[in-house]
Amino acid sequence: MLEIENLHVSIGETPILKGVTLTINSGEIHAIMGPNGSGKSTLANVIAGKPEYIIDKGTINFNDTLIHDLRPDERANLGIFLAFQYPVELPGIPMKQFIKTALDIKLKSQNMKETTVREFNKMLKVESENIGIDSKLIKRCVNEGFSGGEKKRNEMLQMALLKPQLSILDETDSGLDIDALKTVGQSVNKLSTNENAILIVTHYQRLLNYVTPTKVHVLINGKISKSGDAELAKELELKGYDWIKSKV
Ligand code: ADP
Ligand code: MG
Repeated sequence: MLEIENLHVSIGETPILKGVTLTINSGEIHAIMGPNGSGKSTLANVIAGKPEYIIDKGTINFNDTLIHDLRPDERANLGIFLAFQYPVELPGIPMKQFIKTALDIKLKSQNMKETTVREFNKMLKVESENIGIDSKLIKRCVNEGFSGGEKKRNEMLQMALLKPQLSILDETDSGLDIDALKTVGQSVNKLSTNENAILIVTHYQRLLNYVTPTKVHVLINGKISKSGDAELAKELELKGYDWIKSKV
């Protein structure tokens, strides 16, 4: 599904990713871990199409399509979804209208019918209950005055409704209390199918107590320095990142 080859990315004059190669197949859950500043968010953002990054070298293919020149909304229509590390507040834009518009545009791009208000409300009710979002939040504007945990749950709600083929979760676990962490973990498991893939970007392994990744990669200084299975995340929790850094 996702094939990244020798990817070099910079911001302005500063090289951030220095040769990342990563393949993710349908049905898989991958975790990218690594110390702060190693380039994890850069990798997430560059897949989703955030504009200020420059691809100096290498390729990103999604379902055999080179996506470098596509806008973020075009990538979203293809099935890529990014849950932000820092979700933004959109004052004046009601939650319901925001998510329904996003969903309808995506359905339309796939030549499918828009949801009716009744269908949408039903889906929204089911998914917000699953994720544990208070129905009062749904009536407010997107993320406006939401707590950190509420913003993260809102990202999960959008993911549940948009049903992306590839979901990238950038530090979705940060700022969550134990209960919220558990709900997020459970919803990731529930949303994971044989037809989609999930890329979890995280500094800590705590979310991985609830979600078992197919593969774990350690990103250090813009390069994947080590890959392994779920055990690697546990090893990192015990030993930190320094032992890998010193080997690099
Ligand atoms: P991580 O998510 O692993 O903590 P990031 O991808 O956010 O790392 O950042 C990687 C490096 O890129 C950091 O050194 C950061 O300071 C730098 N960086 C990120 N955004 C910018 C920017 N807009 N301009 C300059 N440097 C940036
Ligand atoms: Mg980050």
